[in-house]
Amino acid sequence: MNLERCVEELKIIKEELAIENKEKIKRAAELVIANIELAFQNAEKAKRAAELMLANKELIFQNEEKGKRAAELIIANIELAYQSQEKAKRAAELIIANKEHSFESEQKEKCATELRIANTELAYQNKEKEKRAAELNIVNKELEQFAFIASHDLQQPLRTVSNYLRLLEEKYLSQLDEDARKYINSTNNAIKRMNLLINSLLIFSQLGNNRKLANVDLKIVLEEVIADHEILIKNSGALIEMSAMPALNIYETEMRQLFQNLITNAIKFQKVETQPKISISAEQKKDKWQFAVKDNGIGIEAIHYEKIFDIFQRLNSKAEYEGSGIGLANCKKIVQLHKGDIWLESKPKEGSTFYFTIPNLAVSATN
Ligand code: ADP
Repeated sequence: MNLERCVEELKIIKEELAIENKEKIKRAAELVIANIELAFQNAEKAKRAAELMLANKELIFQNEEKGKRAAELIIANIELAYQSQEKAKRAAELIIANKEHSFESEQKEKCATELRIANTELAYQNKEKEKRAAELNIVNKELEQFAFIASHDLQQPLRTVSNYLRLLEEKYLSQLDEDARKYINSTNNAIKRMNLLINSLLIFSQLGNNRKLANVDLKIVLEEVIADHEILIKNSGALIEMSAMPALNIYETEMRQLFQNLITNAIKFQKVETQPKISISAEQKKDKWQFAVKDNGIGIEAIHYEKIFDIFQRLNSKAEYEGSGIGLANCKKIVQLHKGDIWLESKPKEGSTFYFTIPNLAVSATN
């Protein structure tokens, strides 16, 4: 019995064990599955970890790049800040320069306005001068006409006085005493002088009336003037030298008279016992020729430089030096006909130089 029970019990134990085994096998299978699951999860995690590492590396690299970029940006920023500063400095300088410029502009504008006003003033003055010159021209023409008529009309009564005086001399000379003869003699001298003055005035008033502009060699003109005054030159012992002369468009008759007046004056107004030395020269300037007639004569004080070019102005008595006092007035008129200037430089007791200019005149210009 005991055995049976034992077998029975063993059977039960066996069954229980079998169940337990089954359970264990099931459990083992579950464990295997769980293991596989875990292994799979592990593999996934490893993969994920690798990916994370890679992502990390990428991030580190990106961070590094960002750091580098940030450093570059900092440098660029510093550069920009520096440039900004420079620009601000430049802007400040420009503002100052602008201010200066606007100040200068204002000044220039002011200057320009002043110049405009001055120009208007000048234009006005010029117009006035032109008006005055035109008026003077008319007055001059009228004066010339008056001088012509007066001198012309004065000749006749003077001739009458002269004739009656001659008759008086012829018919009554024997009845006249010494004083009366002296008076007649003085009257005769006065008539001669008045005749000279009237004739001079007549010549002056008609000067240039029939002028004709032509191209003339001034060397020839001067040689002819010198030849015409051969006796005067010989008697005075004057030495005349002449530089090269140009051929110019001039009024020949008038120019001849101009040289003649200056040369005869240079001989006439000579110091006692001094050989007259005269030099005539021509020098080309920009748009004109400048002539000079230089002497070693008595000279003229500066105070008389203007006056001697006026009609009948003489500095010396007619007893000392003969003349009508119209020669230089003629010279001035002739130079003005040529649109030139005349003036002099002189030292009393040393000599004088008379200068005049002749601009280049076109032959087509009004004669
Ligand atoms: P005139 O010779 O008939 O006296 P001008 O008109 O030629 O008249 O000259 C005016 C004055 O100028 C002269 O009287 C003289 O006093 C002075 N003069 C002219 N030329 C000279 C000269 N070369 N040297 C000194 N004085 C001069």
